[in-house]
Amino acid sequence: ATLSSYSNNGKKNVVILGSGWGGISFLQHIDESKYNVTLISPRPHFLFTPLLPSTPVGTVDEKSIIEPVVNFAVKKTKGNVSYYEAQATKINHAENTVTIKSFSHVNPFGASKNPESIKKNDSADIKYDYLISAVGAEPNTFGIPGVEKHGMFLKEIEHSPKIRKQFIENIERANLLPKGDPERKRLLTLVVVGGGPTGVETAGELQDYVDQDLKKYLPSIAEEVQIHLIEALPVILNMFESKLTSYAQKVLEQTSIKLHLKTAVSEVKETYLVAKTKVSDTESKLEEIPYGTLIWATGNKPRSIVTDLIKEIPEQEGSRRGLLVDEHLKVKGLNNVYAIGDNAVAGLAPTAQVAHQEAEYLTKVFNKNQIGSAKPFKYLHYGALAYLGAEKAIANITYGKRQLYTGGGLITFYIWRLLYLSMIISWRSRFKVMSDWFKLALFKRDFFKEL
Ligand code: FAD
Ligand code: NAD
Repeated sequence: ATLSSYSNNGKKNVVILGSGWGGISFLQHIDESKYNVTLISPRPHFLFTPLLPSTPVGTVDEKSIIEPVVNFAVKKTKGNVSYYEAQATKINHAENTVTIKSFSHVNPFGASKNPESIKKNDSADIKYDYLISAVGAEPNTFGIPGVEKHGMFLKEIEHSPKIRKQFIENIERANLLPKGDPERKRLLTLVVVGGGPTGVETAGELQDYVDQDLKKYLPSIAEEVQIHLIEALPVILNMFESKLTSYAQKVLEQTSIKLHLKTAVSEVKETYLVAKTKVSDTESKLEEIPYGTLIWATGNKPRSIVTDLIKEIPEQEGSRRGLLVDEHLKVKGLNNVYAIGDNAVAGLAPTAQVAHQEAEYLTKVFNKNQIGSAKPFKYLHYGALAYLGAEKAIANITYGKRQLYTGGGLITFYIWRLLYLSMIISWRSRFKVMSDWFKLALFKRDFFKEL
């Protein structure tokens, strides 16, 4: 079936793919009185990714950082807005349609305004006049054997309880084994691969749990837990200046996280991984590291819906990181398809900050009817922040090229908290995160194996 729900009301149909930083920011800012708006995403919630590393150990509750798509959609009362909880499988650019599949239900807002409905497991084509692709990216394993099977990612909210469960089960199993047993040591070893901000923040949060909570329940186990952080480059957090990265390294080592720099993981087996450390320009050393829990955080690669589209457009040839866009965020080689966020290649880092600004820019262009005549998109960098554990963070706060603050430590940790609170895009979520932090000051973390 081809659905073109709103084709008769004289307004253009804008279809958004994705309910992440790009898609939801676009939905929030688009003037729905001027366009018929349809959002398609298999994920029925927005995820505030900056606090995702805090959830596996229960510093922040999983539900605090997700917000249902419907909560954003119901605020759009001036026109037609609908949401399909569905996976877009193909962009048919010649027909101006998107094929959607495997949806559990369709959730049309203002049912009387939306004439169409489709049944479970149907496939359908949705017609668009303008398409906004904001499907993000997926974890990259670089094809390293064993990662998919044995490693865990931290990219979506459902990854978080999986990490917690495995860690708890390993603690329980280790507790039954005698001290000195190599199996006990393995079970209590956590390896985080990737020293980007995801890996560093996750390692820091895990160590916080061990030092602040586990030590009180099971001191002998807590003493034996060893967290490793493995990074292929000579530095961690390479987007920060060297003064801040060396501070970060020092903090991690003080909290007893074992750092392996210039070390690339090349193979993952069920109970150990193989890591290759560069010792000189010509020499490297191979090491086997037994692990109980493996978290893989080595960055992202494009999704198949994006790579499939790239193959069909000559102007996109050779693009390996995502959809090449022009200075107006229009996908090169297409007339009415735009890409924002991690699935777009605009010469900027794949961050929430970029996705959000791109969405704001594009909605301004759409709302002012300046499609084709707008000024180019200009990104304003507000800096970067990262939590290290032990109530220490690093921050480099800027306004474009102007440096406003650079620092690391406890004060920066409070600045980090304040700025993250201000970045949360809903009051419900902001309130919940604040109460989680307040609760943490009084009680231990919620560290449940399952609910
Ligand atoms: P996403 O937010 O990933 O959203 C993609 C959406 O598309 C999702 O809803 C997904 O379900 C949907 N989708 C996927 N496939 C399809 C499909 N086929 N059809 C339809 N929809 C689809 N950035 C910062 O600036 N600051 C930070 O502190 C920060 N912290 C981070 C912490 C972690 C742990 C992670 C993983 C990332 C962090 N980032 C941070 C990066 C930031 O989250 C991303 O750059 C941002 O999410 C990109 O937004 P996006 O809309 O492109 O993609
Ligand atoms: P990343 O790409 O920033 O870092 C991945 C790291 O893994 C790299 O340093 C890379 O050298 C390393 N690596 C790759 N293969 C490896 C291997 N086989 N063995 C060992 N190390 C290997 O990924 P990320 O940390 O997930 O971040 C993704 C994006 O999200 C970035 O743009 C980042 O800025 C953003 N982000 C920002 C924050 C923040 O601002 N606090 C937090 C998380 C993510």
